[in-house]
Amino acid sequence: MEQNRHKGRHGCSDLLFGCMDFRLRRAMNEFLEPCISNGGCDEVRFPGVAKALLDDQIGPMALDAIRIGVEKHGVRRVMLVNHRDCGAYGGSDAFHSTEAERAQHENDLRRAAELLRKEFPDVAVELFFAESSDGGETFKVEPLGEGISIR
Ligand SMILES: [Zn+2]
Repeated sequence: MEQNRHKGRHGCSDLLFGCMDFRLRRAMNEFLEPCISNGGCDEVRFPGVAKALLDDQIGPMALDAIRIGVEKHGVRRVMLVNHRDCGAYGGSDAFHSTEAERAQHENDLRRAAELLRKEFPDVAVELFFAESSDGGETFKVEPLGEGISIR
């Protein structure tokens, strides 16, 4: 054990807030590898992610979970990862086009980021979307476009 970064206490700088969907596991592992190598990250899972944060009932519970990471572990960056064909949104079938589905997720992610920014002003919020081009068989986590990352 050469590492003594957290001598006598434990902490990590990143928190992932992702969906519970089992299909994301492989993509998430790949996505999280840099965080894991860099001391690990907290993980919170709620179906729908951004939708959960914006929900009147689930939102406060999700915020409480994030708060534990921020206050107890020193989290400084929260990564929100919504995904294609999410059951909490009714899946891809609930949308009339792939573009409309994507737009809904991006809009919710931005609103959720605003909420987090108010709640945790010192924490960076980064937004991601796990895209699937094969109907939900496999996913790839991608950052949302420029200007969406909020500090
Ligand atoms: Zn989902």
